[in-house]
Amino acid sequence: DQYVHILDIPFINTTKEQFIAQQVLPALSQNIPLHIVTANPEIVMEAHQNPRYHQIVKEADYVVPDGIGVIMASKLVNNRLSERIPGIELFERMLEIAHDHNKSVYFLGAKEEVVEQAVTNIQYQYPGLDVAGYHHGYIDIHDQAVFDEIQTEEPDFIFVALGFPKQDEWIHHYKGIVGKGILMGVGGSFDVMAG
Ligand code: UDP
Repeated sequence: DQYVHILDIPFINTTKEQFIAQQVLPALSQNIPLHIVTANPEIVMEAHQNPRYHQIVKEADYVVPDGIGVIMASKLVNNRLSERIPGIELFERMLEIAHDHNKSVYFLGAKEEVVEQAVTNIQYQYPGLDVAGYHHGYIDIHDQAVFDEIQTEEPDFIFVALGFPKQDEWIHHYKGIVGKGILMGVGGSFDVMAG
């Protein structure tokens, strides 16, 4: 089956490379905005307890299983998901694609010095990567200045590290007002990449 439902969250049943080839690359080339949630068990439980967050996750374009706990839960509903897709691996794969296809990237989230260091490290790892900009994540989710800056740049990828549920609330709102962008919440990834 293409979707496996766990606690009323529709997980797409795919592998990382298939997901990139069949969902990400076509949206990227046609400028179709995508909201991707890499959901671990904590996110599934938050959605289970928070109806508004549940609705946002359900309205995302794709929810992929991040973490062995989600794969185990899929066995319990007798509909095994093919593969765990860790958020950080998908994030790194997207950076590689942006680099290879000359697509621009924007980074929103984490503390000022963390996002700055993460961007420096990423630029070192992907020389020539088109960084449209970055901003720390200690903002209101409706912060107009940040929206305006990002809308002006029209980045192809926007990685949002605000923690959940905030990152998906931000993406949900932003996706409603712009015409393009692969939008993905990346949790604590900037902290990891800042080293
Ligand atoms: N974060 C942020 N703004 C906030 C809350 C958190 O930018 O209002 C950042 C935080 O600095 C960290 C990332 O979001 O880089 C993930 O935070 P946390 O570990 O709390 O969330 P989780 O990884 O559990 O989603």
